[in-house]
Amino acid sequence: MTGTRLDPWVDSYAARTQGMTASEIRALFAVASRPEVVSLAGGMPFVQALPMEQIAATVSRLLTERGATALQYGSGQGDVVLREQILQVMADVKVNAHPDDIVVTTGSQMALDLVTRVFCDPGDVVLVEAPSYVGALGVFRAYQADVVHVAMDDQGLNPVALAEAIAAVRSSGRTPKMIYTIPSFHNPAGVTQGPERRTEILTIAQREGILLLEDDPYGLLGFDGEPPRAIRADDDQGVIYLGSFSKTIASGLRVGWAVAPHGVREKLVLAAESAVLCPSNFAQMTVSDYLATQPWREQIKVFRELYRDRRDALLGAMDQLMPAGTTWTVPAGGFYSWITLPQGLDSKAMLPRAIAALVAYVPGTGFFVDGQGRQQLRLSYCYPDTDRIREGVRRLAAVIESELDLAHTFGTTHALADSIGQVNPAPDIA
Ligand code: PMP
Repeated sequence: MTGTRLDPWVDSYAARTQGMTASEIRALFAVASRPEVVSLAGGMPFVQALPMEQIAATVSRLLTERGATALQYGSGQGDVVLREQILQVMADVKVNAHPDDIVVTTGSQMALDLVTRVFCDPGDVVLVEAPSYVGALGVFRAYQADVVHVAMDDQGLNPVALAEAIAAVRSSGRTPKMIYTIPSFHNPAGVTQGPERRTEILTIAQREGILLLEDDPYGLLGFDGEPPRAIRADDDQGVIYLGSFSKTIASGLRVGWAVAPHGVREKLVLAAESAVLCPSNFAQMTVSDYLATQPWREQIKVFRELYRDRRDALLGAMDQLMPAGTTWTVPAGGFYSWITLPQGLDSKAMLPRAIAALVAYVPGTGFFVDGQGRQQLRLSYCYPDTDRIREGVRRLAAVIESELDLAHTFGTTHALADSIGQVNPAPDIA
């Protein structure tokens, strides 16, 4: 009777595909991308602020003068000139490395994939923040790792909770392989680890002999003062550092990198070669020429100021309009604020009603593997302009108000969500 089955190959899939789940909320996001909807959902960088004409001239010159190299296969580890330039970029977060320590990847998303492929067997444990970046959770699940969430506070990953979680994992007979953390301007929590917190976390990782995977795509997008010092700056053997040009230049170029200890780097290059042979020469050389010929630090300043204005618009509007009992984090950089709804409200159940009111967000459950996050949601302020952000908050505040009325009638809106049906974690491409 295979003719009646939607997917005749379903019994042939590898076991690992069980961790690869699509989302029912995807359909809602197709609606959310309509222009009348204010989307506070996706974390898309505002690439319109780039100097497009200069980039066009850079690309044109690249093709005219070095087209035969740009359009050819390249090194599996990445272009050596770009790797040297990456050292200058990382100097701002105090990472000191050698060009040989760097593997250029197709966005840091690919680096997450390679590191997990190299380190995680099915059933190995990856400790992650609660909540954590949805794209990383997807990778860990695709390699059949067990994801264990560790509590955060307003300084990010909580070291006491981390030590307890490691002990609990070990006593359950499982192997903690990695601690995955986003120390600066966290996605989705919007918080940042202070210097002491970073030291405490590193000390635990070192004491326990667990690899620390430091994901830092937003590190240069702080709104005040110097960029936070990376954890990798204090340990070049126990930490793998991931960086990206997605937020500081352009996400569409798909250029990121990993900095890893020597032996690990060798394995990452082999894994990269089997996945893509080599990262795109064209994209790497575009980034490299941009860094060499454009005032890239000035451009990052432009981005920081733009995102700070948008953060201020979001926070100001929430202060003014959000119903009592709604709380949120105050990001000092990056793209996101993490919202906690009043008691009894359910962000998954609320989403269709929010979209009907022409505002979109990502429900908190998308950032957990274990169903937590129903009372939370993520708002991104990176893409819409300040007027749209204020309008989005106005709409969302009104939805929350009417949700509170519903909760009064039905007890909580969790029960309502369950009766509507199980909704999978939200897809969030960024
Ligand atoms: N890590 C985090 C925390 C992110 O937020 C993102 C994208 N939003 C990535 C990694 C992947 O970024 P990219 O592949 O574009 O470098």
